[in-house]
Amino acid sequence: MKYTIDQLRGLARATAETRPDEIDCDEWLARVAAYIEARSDEAPLDPEMAAVEQHVKVCPDCRAELEALMRATEEG
Ligand SMILES: [Zn+2]
Repeated sequence: MKYTIDQLRGLARATAETRPDEIDCDEWLARVAAYIEARSDEAPLDPEMAAVEQHVKVCPDCRAELEALMRATEEG
């Protein structure tokens, strides 16, 4: 099975569009405070905050960090 050039372009674009959602631990740490604040609102999360949520699904270190921060926030 062969792809047409238009299909390949579509695939390349889809890949480029999903990449901004994948952040590394440094970027995650830069956004986590905003994420915790955003979570306390009832508004839906914007894509930058959704990326924070996505990262903790794949990174156990940051998930532990988030849990600790949330506990601290709730108790404080
Ligand atoms: Zn991480």
